[in-house]
Amino acid sequence: MKTVKGSCLCGKVTYQVENDFQKFHLCHCTQCQKTTGSAHASNLFIRANQFSWLTGQTELQRYDVPGRAISQAFCTTCGCGMPYLSKSGSGMMVIPAGSLDQIPEISPSSHIFWHERASWYDEALGANTSEDFPSG
Ligand SMILES: [Zn+2]
Ligand SMILES: [Zn+2]
Repeated sequence: MKTVKGSCLCGKVTYQVENDFQKFHLCHCTQCQKTTGSAHASNLFIRANQFSWLTGQTELQRYDVPGRAISQAFCTTCGCGMPYLSKSGSGMMVIPAGSLDQIPEISPSSHIFWHERASWYDEALGANTSEDFPSG
């Protein structure tokens, strides 16, 4: 099985994971909007025994959202969202897709908690695209 690597923005935290992801969900729940500061989380799921830290595990901080099996793990230097073991009891690691440095062999299968999506999300899908900061 091929592996893919991931890292945070400052590079202190790195990991590798088998390119054998079970699920890939885009979660629009209000908690994921908060934890990502964006429209939705993009989370890959893989069994914990297919994941390993390479460097910087001691740099991580974790916050578990009370009452829900949602957590946020992040690098204490740069704040990037990092993988964490799900509190759901599933034995799965949740991998923020944006933290990968290589391409996962799976595509997103669903937008979940769609009814909680940001009020501006539908319009964002139709917004102009630009290769850089737009001029003016
Ligand atoms: Zn970092
Ligand atoms: Zn969510």
